[in-house]
Amino acid sequence: VLAAGAVATLAEVAGDVQRAAGAAERLLELMDTRPGIAPPVRPRPLPEPLSGEIRLERVSFTYPGRETPALDDVDLTIRPGERVALVGPSGAGKSTLLSLLLRFHDPDAGILRLDGVDLRELDLGALRSSLGLVAQEPVLFTGSVADNLRYGDADADLDSLRVAARDANALSFIEALPQGFDTALGPGGVQLSGGQRQRLAIARALLKDPRVLLLDEATSALDAESERLVQQALDRLMVGRTSLVIAHRLATVVAADRLLVFDGGCLVAAGRHGELMDTSPLYRHLAELQFGRHPSTVTTDAHSAH
Ligand code: ATP
Repeated sequence: VLAAGAVATLAEVAGDVQRAAGAAERLLELMDTRPGIAPPVRPRPLPEPLSGEIRLERVSFTYPGRETPALDDVDLTIRPGERVALVGPSGAGKSTLLSLLLRFHDPDAGILRLDGVDLRELDLGALRSSLGLVAQEPVLFTGSVADNLRYGDADADLDSLRVAARDANALSFIEALPQGFDTALGPGGVQLSGGQRQRLAIARALLKDPRVLLLDEATSALDAESERLVQQALDRLMVGRTSLVIAHRLATVVAADRLLVFDGGCLVAAGRHGELMDTSPLYRHLAELQFGRHPSTVTTDAHSAH
């Protein structure tokens, strides 16, 4: 599970994490100015427009104090606009991959590149503003609904907020709140359901409009209607962007252009859901555990939301 919030600058992520109950350790971890994360003396600019290609070249990473690598010699190219689902047992390294892309850590060996540029040569702010993060349990800031959405784009006017909210399937519940977009959230304010919080986080990401999306799909069950609204909003968010999703739902893996199966820090298989069901015993096993007994027989038209 990726210990981070809904948008991807360090301050924002730390803000989210700070507000998450019991996340003090994670906060320290994120705030820690690691010697490894050195800013480049002369940052290289990202290409404009950014295509959103991600490349890992023989990347290995071991957390300090751990013996076994969390990622072990991972070689991988994700095409611009590709929708990739990361799957694998707990501890396989999926969240670590997203953490390295966000530069919470640097690899011990190998190189991560965005549009061909080594992440270590990029200004951290520029990197993180090209990445959108929707965490499993987005936490909201104290402030109004509008304030919360403007973490995605500080200059967004009300019309833009409304468009993003509409596309995130959040507009109707926002309009039903006592003061609409001015309704206060957080302690002393209105409490939102898990599905509503997720849709606000999606609206925020839509406003940010990043080339690359990192999603940690919620594992906690939403009711069917809420689930449908969130899924539809996510589908809209992913259109035209490179997206990496830590997948927990069958609809996600079925819709993905490619699944990357991780085990023990290694990338052990890649392909579409149907292919892997035939060729990868590990994937078949995982799919049966996670998605029910007969995932190959489920027909899910996950693109129907478009
Ligand atoms: P899950 O699905 O349970 O979230 P994952 O596939 O995302 O698992 P990671 O969280 O990337 O796996 O973990 C990979 C390995 O790194 C595991 O062995 C884990 O215990 C270890 N690890 C993860 N985070 C840390 C950390 N902050 N410090 C030390 N070890 C860590």
